Amino acid sequence: MNLTIWGAAQQVTGSMHLLETDHYKILIDCGLDYEYNSDVSENEHFPFDPATIDVVVLTHAHIDHCGNLPTLIRLGFQGQILCSSPTAALSELLMLDAVNIFLKKEKRKIRRGNKRFVKYERPLYLQKHVMDTVERFVPIAFDKPFRITGKIELTLIPIGHLLGATAVILTIEENGETKKIAFTGDVGRKDYPILKDPQPIPPVDYIICESTYGGRDHSDDNLSDVLIDTITETCLKTPGKLIIPAFSVGRTQALVYSLNRIFSKGLLPPIQIFVDSPLANYATEIYRRFHHLLNNEAQAFYSREGDQFDFENLKYVENLDESKDISNYFDPCIIISSAGMLEGGRIQDHLYENIQNYYCTILFIGYCAKGTLGHRLLRGDPIVKIRNRELSVYASIKKTDSLSGHADHQDLVTLVGQQPLHELKKVFLVHGDLGSMQALEVALTSKGYSVEIPQKGKTITL
Ligand SMILES: [Zn+2]
Repeated sequence: MNLTIWGAAQQVTGSMHLLETDHYKILIDCGLDYEYNSDVSENEHFPFDPATIDVVVLTHAHIDHCGNLPTLIRLGFQGQILCSSPTAALSELLMLDAVNIFLKKEKRKIRRGNKRFVKYERPLYLQKHVMDTVERFVPIAFDKPFRITGKIELTLIPIGHLLGATAVILTIEENGETKKIAFTGDVGRKDYPILKDPQPIPPVDYIICESTYGGRDHSDDNLSDVLIDTITETCLKTPGKLIIPAFSVGRTQALVYSLNRIFSKGLLPPIQIFVDSPLANYATEIYRRFHHLLNNEAQAFYSREGDQFDFENLKYVENLDESKDISNYFDPCIIISSAGMLEGGRIQDHLYENIQNYYCTILFIGYCAKGTLGHRLLRGDPIVKIRNRELSVYASIKKTDSLSGHADHQDLVTLVGQQPLHELKKVFLVHGDLGSMQALEVALTSKGYSVEIPQKGKTITL
């Protein structure tokens, strides 16, 4: 059988792997590739005919793993999409959000010399294509083998990272031989708020492993301590505002639950908290619906205290008028809003109003890519441009990686290290930049594993 890494090859986005047996083609993930950056429409050039794919298996709902599915369907894919139930629900939400972003970008004003132009960018897909995609989802139970054909069996293993995220294990019979192949998807961390720990991957012949944090380990920051210290400094010792940019799906729910734990234990006096992101409100509903899948600690909290995502001093902001009011909220408060990297979203209004306020702190809890406003603030730019105005940065800037949803270098080495050396034939590294992959390659090779960093489009015979 053949494996071709068509995306996330020596880069982080656009996960898409094709596994071909003599009679069947399985696509694992079909994510949006952001390396095309300015021209998302490049994603519609599939290197194969979508109509020839028999089935898609989806690891999780992040847009760099599911976000190109509507294009695949628009261009002829006829089969089913197998994934966990929460992945189906969250993917629908995130793909619909992607449509909103495409439509906002559809008509952009650009400037060339002294002349202004309107540039039209055709949306990659529309709401109707997302609806066509959602109809193809077939929810698969965790940890239970599911027969795709007489010769191909699928098992989804919970892997932390995001509600519903799984590693994909395929057991394939071909020419009288049985081979097991594991795709890790994105691997989560132990002891992450609300999520269960990643489960070990059973012994396999080949593993296609993510490597986002290869060569880097997370700090020992304790999230609760960071939150208590920052809130005390910003909202109690001074009458300030704490603004926390957070991705709406996953990160916001983990943060809200962590704050709920702090306030319910009485570790801080009540302070008004606003969650200002319509997408986060919808995602929180999905987390509530699947609360039986959250970790034991979060479920015990639910039995003791009630809803993990609701408490007395917390308000979910509904409409834009309300959102504008909280930018100028007079008393000390905490505003959680998106986008996490500060590119677009309601967070921009809150920054515009508060970045010149000495009593404001901006706490980053996630990665900010180069070229984003978040990245410029984190590197300490004294002046930044928001809504076409140059503004001096007087607010304090803080950062913690304690809410990162990805396994770090040591976690990934441990995950692969659970595989018996004499059984695992090869580790293929994907979903990381080349430096991260090379660091992981060195660590795994020194343990005796055979490691390959595949080029995009190179077909490997397994
Ligand atoms: Zn992910």
